[in-house]
Amino acid sequence: MGDLSKKIFSVVHYVANKVQQPAVVLLYHRVTNLQQDPQELSVTPAHFDSHLAHLAADYHVLDADQFLYHVKNKKPFPERSVFVTFDDGYADNYLEALPLLTRHQVPALFYITTSKINTAFELWWDDLERVLLTGNGLPAALTLNINGQRREYGTSTLTAIRETYYALQQELRFCKPAVIDAAMEQLYEWSGKPATGRASHRLMTWEEVKAMGSAAYATIGCHTHRHPAVGMLTYEEQYTEIGMSKEILEGVLSQPQVHFSYPFGGRKFLGIKRYYNADSIKACKALGLQLVCANYHGQVHSWSNPYALPRILVRDWPMDVFRRQLQQFFKY
Ligand SMILES: [Zn+2]
Repeated sequence: MGDLSKKIFSVVHYVANKVQQPAVVLLYHRVTNLQQDPQELSVTPAHFDSHLAHLAADYHVLDADQFLYHVKNKKPFPERSVFVTFDDGYADNYLEALPLLTRHQVPALFYITTSKINTAFELWWDDLERVLLTGNGLPAALTLNINGQRREYGTSTLTAIRETYYALQQELRFCKPAVIDAAMEQLYEWSGKPATGRASHRLMTWEEVKAMGSAAYATIGCHTHRHPAVGMLTYEEQYTEIGMSKEILEGVLSQPQVHFSYPFGGRKFLGIKRYYNADSIKACKALGLQLVCANYHGQVHSWSNPYALPRILVRDWPMDVFRRQLQQFFKY
């Protein structure tokens, strides 16, 4: 954020928080130690442990039912309210995050992308990293057919490979799932690498999802079937993507699903609502979802729209940074 937008943000916070105490929703993806993390979505277990100790000591952490109750009934939040969420459904959520949450008695909501649960396949952005940024011996140039368009990328130097990786991350996230799958197939063939992924990047098994669903400090929510930017889809496609993850999870867990978060979830990209739009909210309502999180910086008040709540994306912050990041919402 620039200085001016920071100032405006502060003034808006100040006024809103004078009227009512906010709640802050935290967004995590992974808790594990990785060799490299170019998307910066993983928090080390040691840092996560310190985050939870701080939350347990200094904040009022709501569970999914309490958070839903306040948002749905437009009830003011208790002082210093925080709600913890995880996106995507990585195995480390169960293996590494849940034991720490349980130890600190901090509840969290886990949004699951269903298509790659219980498979040996990685989510496409991890797969892109595996193909381009691990090992060596790639051909010196890459030609891809993306949605009928011929695209060329440099891969002759490490710098060129990294640039190609970031360019494809950006480009593929606004493509429909079939286009992403087709691009990945070409990448496997081009690189000679298999479609199956790394154990370190797998999602949960169904047994793990079920164990998570019955754990005292975890609640499960939906995150689409194939993780598209739903704002790029038609209403019918959005309804199907969101509805499929809901139906699959309800079948496995034998309980109604009311929680959802938009994949990627930013409000706008280059001025266009690519991540979610009015049709997304309409589809969520039609599917009976009750609380939906997005992913833009901000705080939640009882008057916030329950179908597009802001969240704070947590990076691998050491304790002092985590404390400061949270405190900015509660200092007024
Ligand atoms: Zn996601």
